[in-house]
Amino acid sequence: MTFRTPAITATIDLGRIRSAAAAIVARTGVPVFAVVKADAYGCGAGRVVAALAGTVAGFATFTLAEAASAGIHAATALPVLAMGPPVDLPAADYRMAGVRPAVHDATQAATLCAAGPVLCVDTGMQRFACPADQVTAALAAGGCSEAFTHATRPEHVTRLLAAVGGRGLRLHAAATALLDRPDAWLDGVRPGLALYRDAVRIAVRLAECRDTRGPAGYTGFAATRHGVIPMGYSNGLRTGWCQVAGTRRWVLEVGMQTAFVELGVGDRPGDEVVLLGDGLSLEDQAQAWETSRQEVLLRLLQTATREYVGES
Ligand SMILES: *Cc1c(COP(=O)(O)O)cnc(C)c1O
Repeated sequence: MTFRTPAITATIDLGRIRSAAAAIVARTGVPVFAVVKADAYGCGAGRVVAALAGTVAGFATFTLAEAASAGIHAATALPVLAMGPPVDLPAADYRMAGVRPAVHDATQAATLCAAGPVLCVDTGMQRFACPADQVTAALAAGGCSEAFTHATRPEHVTRLLAAVGGRGLRLHAAATALLDRPDAWLDGVRPGLALYRDAVRIAVRLAECRDTRGPAGYTGFAATRHGVIPMGYSNGLRTGWCQVAGTRRWVLEVGMQTAFVELGVGDRPGDEVVLLGDGLSLEDQAQAWETSRQEVLLRLLQTATREYVGES
């Protein structure tokens, strides 16, 4: 059997992304800023932005370049925040792209004053954010009306309120990790992973199936029956779970562009091997890969051919 093109298929359900966003809007009752950095976690920023435009209050990327190249503001007229450190471009460039820069010191805030800068406050992350003792100067320099922090734990929210609360600023902190904490919702939430985690299915097809005779592969793995899939570490794959004909199986060994998977007696060349979706969750795979759910999602999507379903 020859390898098919496209070898790796990602089916991205835009309807599920939209209903995940709508559920967060309904549950929190605050503006939801959809995080679409890194090409919407590999799902395709242009398509995701179009799907979410009628549901969310705005978008967030890491850089100005990401926001501008996806044309987010032009396509939706919604506010966009570039959450990462500002680049060395004048306020006019941010304004032209309809993007508000995150700033983390008084100099940046003053330089980008005309672009409506948003102060990023350090509440523990210790990375491009303003220390609490410098927030007053930075807020004044930028004429800021809004501040945020990258919160992953409740104490980050408490520290944000201690540093900049009670000043009439619009504040936001929560990403996916704090969506179940009403005290973290403040004046807006910034979910990323929560939008995408149940919306992506990744599948390849079995190129070969055989009964295993003695030690096989590079590592001499043992199995009763194994198959080969056209997906390797150059496609982001690691040893971990897969699913064949609804049965949970193990990816036994990963090479550059192929991998060995464990099979049952009924599995045949051309059958689908699912790496994500159909009940095989990002959580399960992240545990098997010993990494974050975000990393699993981006790795599995990095060379997949994307197909979209669920458009309204
Ligand atoms: C990536 C990011 C988010 C979204 O994080 P998730 O955990 O994927 O929801 C929110 N805020 C900031 C500042 C980020 O960098």
